[in-house]
Amino acid sequence: MTKVVIIGAGGVGGVVTHKCAQLPTVFTDIVLASRTLSKCDAIAEQVLKNYEVKISTAQVDADNVPELTQFLIQERPKLVINVALPYQDLTIMDACLAAGVHYMDTANYEPEDTAKFEYKWQWAYQEKFEKAGLMALLGSGFDPGATNVFTAYLAKHYFDEIQQLDIIDVNGGDHGHPFATNFNPEINIREVTAECRHWENGDFVETEAMSKKASFECPEAVGTYNIYRMYHEELESLTKHFPTIKKAQFWMSFSENYLNHLRVLEGIGMTSIEPVMHNGQEIIPLQFLKSILPEPASLGPRTVGRTCIGCIVKGVKDGKEVTQYIYNICDHQACYAEVQSQAISYTTGVPAMIGAKLMLEDKWMKPGVWNIEQMDPDPFMDDMNQYGLPWTVIELTQDKIL
Ligand code: NDP
Repeated sequence: MTKVVIIGAGGVGGVVTHKCAQLPTVFTDIVLASRTLSKCDAIAEQVLKNYEVKISTAQVDADNVPELTQFLIQERPKLVINVALPYQDLTIMDACLAAGVHYMDTANYEPEDTAKFEYKWQWAYQEKFEKAGLMALLGSGFDPGATNVFTAYLAKHYFDEIQQLDIIDVNGGDHGHPFATNFNPEINIREVTAECRHWENGDFVETEAMSKKASFECPEAVGTYNIYRMYHEELESLTKHFPTIKKAQFWMSFSENYLNHLRVLEGIGMTSIEPVMHNGQEIIPLQFLKSILPEPASLGPRTVGRTCIGCIVKGVKDGKEVTQYIYNICDHQACYAEVQSQAISYTTGVPAMIGAKLMLEDKWMKPGVWNIEQMDPDPFMDDMNQYGLPWTVIELTQDKIL
């Protein structure tokens, strides 16, 4: 029996639960736990309808370590798949250590009161997990996640040395709302409004948010999009684990409409995480904004178009300079037809299921705290092809951008 507890019943949690339920021989027993029980029950009902697989549900507050530890001791899973919010990473890791359970997530820890995400807090758990004989796999979503594995795969099979990395995340989808975010609005807006950092010659260089823009033509007629350079957490781990990288940048596409709304919201203080008084009560403007924006999980039926996320890597092979582009294209409506979700949650949930699967199959099981690019990329790449996220590598004959 390999029992997993999935924590977080949002957009990503729904997809992970569906994908795990599709593999009953690997995930023999699934428990979905979150802050709001009714959201777990709604996903469980869908899974039962789609696959005739019965999963258990539970209400849990993942900020509360003793409560969560007790819950894990009672459930006795082999692994926790954390798809709650980055704020819960450390409390869930603490509970896993106390209950003797392996851990996996898709986003690195971020303190709730400072919009700053770094791996240092989770890397500090290395010794504790190693001593306990437990594994913590960090960042098994798409970016971070598949993009890290793409980089490791190219480094292993296509290069003698990799020197420049550009991760490009294009969402060519349209949900028809004037303004909505494809994953948790609070996390998304904190990420997008943060100062940009990219890696150059051994250090991170800071620039103003959204100050560097390029045009990118996606393959397979997905379209040409404006992409903006921003900071993303995988730059920190990838430049550490591939020290030959001299320059690393992360780019994301945004429509003019999205940026105009964001500028206005930022201009009037609605994206701030500083508490303000409202009718005698302290509120955080960004959390209030989140409560009136559409839930990411609700965008599935109305989102059309495709995503195109991948890595352009430059380096040296057999003494020659080479540029390779590796990418996945994912169709929002095809995701909806399969698991009733849009492609952003899908492209995160599928790699989360694959990371968990490889741990449970002992292909990636190793005590300690590991970023996903530190694992052998090959079984993950095979599973991407098999479970809904096929990828392509093309050699670029001229520098495409950047
Ligand atoms: P959602 O907001 O849709 O879902 C988050 C879920 O976590 C909600 O169901 C919420 O419960 C639950 N939750 C929040 N706090 C607690 C708590 N204290 N205890 C228990 N449950 C809690 O977000 P997404 O599904 O879009 O994102 C999930 C995670 O995936 C995030 O960490 C996000 O950063 C990450 N992500 C990673 C990506 C990648 O490519 N690596 C891409 C996209 C997302 P409730 O609804 O009741 O509040």
